[in-house]
Amino acid sequence: MTTTTATILDGTKIAAQIRSEVVQEAQKLTAAGRRPGLAVILAGHDPASEIYVRNKVKACEQLGIHSEKLTPPDSVTTEELLVIVQQLNQRDEIDGILVQLPLPPQVDAKKVLLAVAPEKDVDGLHPVNAGNLATQRPGLVPCTPSGVIEILRRSQIPIEGRHAVVIGRSDLVGKPVAMLLLNNNATVTVCHSKTRDLPAVARQGDILVAAIGRAAFVTQEFVKPGATVIDVGTNKITDRKEFEKFFPGNAAREKSFAEKGSTQIGDVDPRVAAVAGAITPVPGGVGPLTIAMLMANTVKACQMRRGGK
Ligand code: NAP
Repeated sequence: MTTTTATILDGTKIAAQIRSEVVQEAQKLTAAGRRPGLAVILAGHDPASEIYVRNKVKACEQLGIHSEKLTPPDSVTTEELLVIVQQLNQRDEIDGILVQLPLPPQVDAKKVLLAVAPEKDVDGLHPVNAGNLATQRPGLVPCTPSGVIEILRRSQIPIEGRHAVVIGRSDLVGKPVAMLLLNNNATVTVCHSKTRDLPAVARQGDILVAAIGRAAFVTQEFVKPGATVIDVGTNKITDRKEFEKFFPGNAAREKSFAEKGSTQIGDVDPRVAAVAGAITPVPGGVGPLTIAMLMANTVKACQMRRGGK
């Protein structure tokens, strides 16, 4: 049994708070004749993408946001996708455009993402929005990184003056998380695969964010006792020996592992909970925030472009 001394930061609960705020804003906008609208482009038939898109469309329905799903075939060309994006850019009632990744291999994904109007870029991936974030101008911020900040903020974990260590430097997660922490006055260290003596660097963090994509990579030796650990990773383990190593005596996990033959695990070894002061679980930590922040971004995009704030 893993000894847990850390406070568990409940992402599902925090996401529910955000969703209830989004519902109210969406209602106000709808009453003023400006119902927020999200268009999701799902090219081809990637099974994981189909599930993600289904969940996004469902969240829109629950929160009173208009949604549209566009499903060009696997064979779609870059030019065809650019036409779809341009048409959505021009429609006033569409506030957010989300291009679900990965796109089929023949498509120039960067070109397609660059074509999304920055004011409708609810994924916050356009270089204009990355620039807005870096220069502290209003804009749309990537969803998972905003979710990380919401977890810290709504759990009353101070950021200002703290040393935050981020492991991972992707454009999607690591870099924007680091920028948001910096904008919130943390002292930030960004680590990656070439960082030397990573455990020692990570151990300096009052806040440690793991966005690596490697199951249980961050072990107890990476964590300063009492630190807040945010686990962005979503990995799967299927090996029973590994399962027993990470989740001994966990009856609920055992049941679902036996049924599905796999379980989700983050980038942080669950046994870190014995050292950390607070930690996000996987699942139920950062994950639920990603969709909640996408909904919040759609409402924000509507307010910024069409007014209402
Ligand atoms: P990514 O683009 O693959 O980036 C991974 C980062 O980790 C890179 O910067 C890489 O360094 C670094 N890294 C890899 N191996 C390392 C090592 N051995 N030591 C130190 N650093 C290492 O992944 P991502 O898109 O940022 O996603 C990260 C994780 O978050 C994944 O598990 C993903 O599934 C998950 N995720 C979850 C959500 C959610 O909603 N919960 C959303 C997005 C992503 P280099 O730059 O040097 O290669």
